Amino acid sequence: MSGKKRRLDQEDDEQSNVGGRTGSSFQISRRKFLSMSALAGCAAAGFPASAYSTPEFRGWPESYGMLTDITACVGCRSCEKACNKANEMPAPDKPFEDGTVFKERRWPSAKTLTVVNRYENPDNPFVPVYRKIQCNHCMEPACATACPIHAYTKTPEGAVTYNPDLCFGCRYCVIACPFNMPGYDYESALEPRIVKCILCHGRIIEGQLPACAEACPGGALTFGRRNDIVKLARKRIMDSPQKYIDHIYGEHEAGGTAWLYISGVPFKQLGFPDNLPRKPMIELTRGYLSSVPVIFTTFPALFGMIYALTKNRDKTPLKEDDLKHTSGGEK
Ligand code: SF4
Ligand code: SF4
Ligand code: SF4
Repeated sequence: MSGKKRRLDQEDDEQSNVGGRTGSSFQISRRKFLSMSALAGCAAAGFPASAYSTPEFRGWPESYGMLTDITACVGCRSCEKACNKANEMPAPDKPFEDGTVFKERRWPSAKTLTVVNRYENPDNPFVPVYRKIQCNHCMEPACATACPIHAYTKTPEGAVTYNPDLCFGCRYCVIACPFNMPGYDYESALEPRIVKCILCHGRIIEGQLPACAEACPGGALTFGRRNDIVKLARKRIMDSPQKYIDHIYGEHEAGGTAWLYISGVPFKQLGFPDNLPRKPMIELTRGYLSSVPVIFTTFPALFGMIYALTKNRDKTPLKEDDLKHTSGGEK
């Protein structure tokens, strides 16, 4: 499954909010201005907040997903390089072959949609563990529900895309995301924009693999239908119980995600949030959403609640031992 390009069904190709950088305008457009005005109008009119909450939605059954097998990742950063090229991101500060980047814990940002970090291996101090990080494409994304102007879209393919032309920089999506994923371009004071992985939506609707999966040389990334990805993950764990911990991360966390992980090391040790409920984050606040009118002042309180529920994000300190390890990408 991992080595072949897949042809996807394309009957659902009428995506209105396909995000990404290519072709996007970074000027405050008339459309964006109108969106902001419309939102202000709704707020002034006291429209009920439930108008912005998600309907009873349980995801797209035939949607795609990705499996990261952390035991197979060698830290080569080919995925970062391919993502950078496919999404026309700026050149990195250091070459992708420069392993000194592993001295710090990096995070996806406005400059990079995915990063690979190195962690200590508790079972073998000479073989570190690598974790690729990007948006997890939640089945019921809190970012999409948080966004007051619907700049995000959960597509039938499973990708959570966004329209940078609509974004006016409120950053509610950043606060709402239980995985702390949307990056924000702080260097553009006049043209704020959110940046995150879009599961290479443009590529997958054309039948191509996401660029990172195509580039991965070690079989650490497998793209396919999410249902099949879950079965594959479960089979690997059952076939090699000594190799994997018995947990598919993302199968249920925060209502489930399209990007799933299996690992030989407990996920908490790799900085994954281990306190997420099985229900989508927004369900925990739905009662609150239904009981208050939508005014700008309620959103900070709402997403403060979500933030409090998920505040145990990746704060794993970098240990001195981590710096001693070498990697395939290091010089
Ligand atoms: S991981 Fe965060 S940014 Fe990605 S879909 Fe989920 S809520 Fe949205
Ligand atoms: S799926 Fe595409 S956008 Fe997301 S990390 Fe991989 S290459 Fe980057
Ligand atoms: S390309 Fe594959 S093996 Fe290399 S760092 Fe990325 S996920 Fe790991």
